[in-house]
Amino acid sequence: MNSNAPRTRVDTLIIGAGLTGLSAGYHLTKHGEQVIILEAATRVGGAVGSVIEAGWLRELGPNSLMQTEALAQLLSELDLSAETIEANPIAKKRFVAKNGHPVALPANPLELLSSPLFSLGDLFHLAREPWIKPAKTEESIAQFVRRRLGQGFLDWAVDPFVSGVYAGDPNRLSARAAIPKIYAMEQENGSLIRAGIARMKAAKANPAPLTQPAKGKLLSFKKGLQTLTDALACAITTSGKGEIHTNSPCSGIIPNADNSWTVHTELGDSFTCKNLILTVPAAVAARLLEPFDLALAEQLNPIEYPPIASVVMGFNRDQVAHPLDGFGLLIPSKEHKQTLGVLFSSTLFPDRTPLGKVMLTAFIGGRQKPQEAAEGTEDEILGRVLRDLSPLLGIQGQPEFLRIQAWPRAIPQYELGYLTRIEAISTLAARWPNLHLAGNWRGGIAVGDCLINGQKLAEQLAATGA
Ligand SMILES: Cc1cc2nc3c(=O)[nH]c(=O)nc-3n(C[C@H](O)[C@H](O)[C@H](O)COP(=O)(O)OP(=O)(O)OC[C@H]3O[C@@H](n4cnc5c(N)ncnc54)[C@H](O)[C@@H]3O)c2cc1C
Repeated sequence: MNSNAPRTRVDTLIIGAGLTGLSAGYHLTKHGEQVIILEAATRVGGAVGSVIEAGWLRELGPNSLMQTEALAQLLSELDLSAETIEANPIAKKRFVAKNGHPVALPANPLELLSSPLFSLGDLFHLAREPWIKPAKTEESIAQFVRRRLGQGFLDWAVDPFVSGVYAGDPNRLSARAAIPKIYAMEQENGSLIRAGIARMKAAKANPAPLTQPAKGKLLSFKKGLQTLTDALACAITTSGKGEIHTNSPCSGIIPNADNSWTVHTELGDSFTCKNLILTVPAAVAARLLEPFDLALAEQLNPIEYPPIASVVMGFNRDQVAHPLDGFGLLIPSKEHKQTLGVLFSSTLFPDRTPLGKVMLTAFIGGRQKPQEAAEGTEDEILGRVLRDLSPLLGIQGQPEFLRIQAWPRAIPQYELGYLTRIEAISTLAARWPNLHLAGNWRGGIAVGDCLINGQKLAEQLAATGA
C-alpha cells in the first residue's frame, strides 16, 4: 500500500458491484450524489451472471426474479420493459422427489387431500393449525413447521423449499430471520391458515388495479438476468455522477479523524470518501474491518456460507424421459441425495437452447451435505448429479453441453441467533459515522431484497444529506 499515492475524493465509495452495491450506486446517482464503486472481479453483477455460448443461454447464479411494484418501477426507469420476459405458465407446477419418484406439489386444497406426499396424519395436523399457539422463544424453521404443520409438511414441502432457496438446513435456520413473512403471519393472525384466508378476503375486497404489475410472477430478460446488472452499471456510469472500477479489489480501509474514510485497492489506487458502503460478503467485510474494529469483525466472521455448484446440462430432448412440465424438481433430505434440486431451465424460459435440445440446471452441495459434495473435478461433480437425477428424470447418457459454476461460499445462512447478531453488528457499526454495512447477509438474500436494501440505504443517505 503506497500512502503517498494521490487520492481521488468522492462523496460515497461503495465496495462491491453485486446487486446491492449497484442498486445503492444507481439510486445515489439518481439523487445527484457522486459515487465510485470498486469491484474485485473483471465484471459487475456478483452472483448474477448470464452467458450465451453456441445457442445455449445459461445463468451462473440466480435464474429468475420475482415481480414486485418496486421492480416494475426500476425496469421502467432503466427502459428494460421490452427486454423483460415472464416465466412459462407451466412453471407454476413444481415437483418434489419422494421414494425415488417425482411427485407434483399440490396446487390447491383439493389436490392436497389426494397428494401422495402427505399422510392422513399430516392432514389432521394441518386441520388443527388454526388453534396452535405461537411459540414464546426463537425457533428453527424445522421447529416452527413441525409445531404448526407437522413432520410430513416439514419433510416433503418445507425442507426441499429451504434447500432450494438457501441451500440451508431447516434445523439451523431461524424461522424469524429466514422466513420473516411466514413468521409474521403467525404473529399477526395467530395461524398461517387464518392469515391466508384473511389475505384472500382482503384481495377480493380491494382488487389490485389492472395497471399494477401482477405480483409474484417470475421474470428474466431475453439475454438473461445479467441484463439488469449491466443496465444498472450503465445507468450509473452514464449519469455523469458515477464511476465503476472493475478488477479493483479493495485491500484496506482506514477511518480518518474527521469521520471520512481512506480506501486502498490492490492496484495501489487510493480514495477518500465521506460515506463508505460495504456490500461485500460478510467474511470480506470482517477482513477489511478487523484492523480497526475487532469486535465488529468477530460478529461478521462466523456467518456461514456453504458451498454450492451450479451444474448446467444440455441434452437432446429424447435423452430425458420426464416431460419437464414444470419449474423443476426439489429433492428432500429424506431422499439421501447430494443434489438439492434441478431447474427445468428450458421449460422455465424457452428459446435458450438450440432446436430439439433441453437444458437442466442442477444445484449440488449446501449446508446439509458433506463439504465435498460441491467440490472435485467436472467429471466427479457431474457423476454425482447424474447418479441422483438420471433415475428420477429418466436421463439416458451424458449431456452434450456441460458447464459447472462453483460457488465456494454461496449463500449466507440466517441461522438461530441471527437477529441478535445483526443487532450487535448494527450497534457496533453505529460507532463509525458514515460507515454503512449492506449485502445479502442482512435483510434478505433474494434478488429483490438486495435491490430494495440498496435502494433504501441510498434514499436514507440522500434524504439526510449524509
Ligand atoms: C448459485 C446461486 C443461486 C441463486 N439463486 C437465486 C434465485 O434464483 N433467486 C433469487 O432471488 N436469489 C438467488 N440467489 C441469491 C442472490 O443472487 C444473491 O443473494 C445476490 O445476488 C447477492 O447480491 P449482493 O450484491 O448482496 O452480493 P454479491 O453478488 O456477492 O456481490 C458482492 C460483490 O463484492 C465483490 N467483492 C468481494 N470482495 C471484494 C473486495 N475486496 N473489493 C471489491 N469488491 C469485492 C464481489 O466480487 C461481488 O461482485 C442465488 C445465489 C447463488 C449464489
